[in-house]
Amino acid sequence: MSAARTALVVGGGVAGMSAAIMLRSAGIEVQLIDIAADWKMAGAGLTISASTLRAMRMAGLLDQVMEEGHTHAGIQVCDVQGMPLRVVQSPPLPDADVPGAGGILRPTLHGIMSARLRELGVPVRLGLTATAIEPAGTASRVRFSDGSSETVDLVVGADGLFSGMRKLLFPEAAAPGFTGQACWRLVIPRPPRISMRHFFLGGPVKVGLTPVSQEEMYMFLLKHVPDNPRRPAETQHEVLRELLSGYGGILADIRAGLCAQSPIIYRPLESHLLRHAWWRGNTILIGDAAHATTPQLASGAGMALEDGIVLADEVARAASLPEAFANFMRRRYERCRMVVENSLEIGRLEVAGAPAAEQTAVVERSLAALAAPI
Ligand SMILES: Cc1cc2nc3c(=O)[nH]c(=O)nc-3n(C[C@H](O)[C@H](O)[C@H](O)COP(=O)(O)OP(=O)(O)OC[C@H]3O[C@@H](n4cnc5c(N)ncnc54)[C@H](O)[C@@H]3O)c2cc1C
Repeated sequence: MSAARTALVVGGGVAGMSAAIMLRSAGIEVQLIDIAADWKMAGAGLTISASTLRAMRMAGLLDQVMEEGHTHAGIQVCDVQGMPLRVVQSPPLPDADVPGAGGILRPTLHGIMSARLRELGVPVRLGLTATAIEPAGTASRVRFSDGSSETVDLVVGADGLFSGMRKLLFPEAAAPGFTGQACWRLVIPRPPRISMRHFFLGGPVKVGLTPVSQEEMYMFLLKHVPDNPRRPAETQHEVLRELLSGYGGILADIRAGLCAQSPIIYRPLESHLLRHAWWRGNTILIGDAAHATTPQLASGAGMALEDGIVLADEVARAASLPEAFANFMRRRYERCRMVVENSLEIGRLEVAGAPAAEQTAVVERSLAALAAPI
């Protein structure tokens, strides 16, 4: 039984590629479109939690992620001088034997997932978006930006934070909101002593390092920027140097190496959650299009991956799309809401300068909740 024979996925990030891989693996004829002509996963690295590694295993991606990325146990919490305070262990998962944590470069994960799509024979069309969705009997007719159209049983909107599909489906939905914080990210060579994720707490900003391969790691730095200033890219190394000025140990070494050519990615943080069903008719939103989180729990991509897995599972098992979508919402809403809201809560604690123990308590509580089977 399957609630759909054909599907179109709009958006080829983690959510869209996960949905396409899993729908195709469930025997559904699926195609994927992405608005970008130069399709890639922009950005630095991704921190991966144990539950994300479990999702990668379910999607058949784990071996390659472990080979091309980096896996390790837990988080080393340090003070501003880089002195180790304690290790936060990831709770073991009841249903999967996977490492506690990991990291991977975003382009590397894109390469792994897009290669899997190719293996499965999923057609991918680039530089294309959906401009309208109309009922066509029990199916949906999707009109594309190049004037063409296609009729499919199921449409999946996976087009990210500023989703055009969300505007088509729920024009009344509020736009994502700025959270008051911004994030600087930078990929740099990894010394062997940074063999697990590090947090440096207790200073004016939150800084962390995640190993993403045998040779590289990425640094992230979160800061309260209530007035959301626009900063020219060529001065970001000066801003970052200033922000790292009170830090010792490896962060002082990284600071000393900053220059105008440092590939710094700066991003004000935005978040949103659709607090009602994520579907209308034959179309459902997944990933950041439905629930976009800030990076505090490093679980946005994990939720995106899980969405694709659960959607395909429910569509393959249900007799109708409304039944599949209702079951999907039951399995996904609370989990994604928890990630969005607890990430915001940690952000508020960071801005208030709350003690490290208070911040890590929310992280530990959230990781324990994420350990539950999907
Ligand atoms: C600073 C920062 C750091 C983060 N760090 C982590 C982390 O360490 N770990 C983690 O798990 N998560 C992290 N996240 C969250 C994670 O990046 C997102 O949750 C995840 O990328 C969402 O995937 P997605 O596929 O839903 O959306 P996206 O990755 O945004 O992909 C959307 C895709 O849709 C395409 N698209 C956009 N508009 C259209 C359109 N109109 N038509 C067709 N295609 C379209 C885009 O080209 C893109 O390919 C972080 C987020 C931020 C902001």
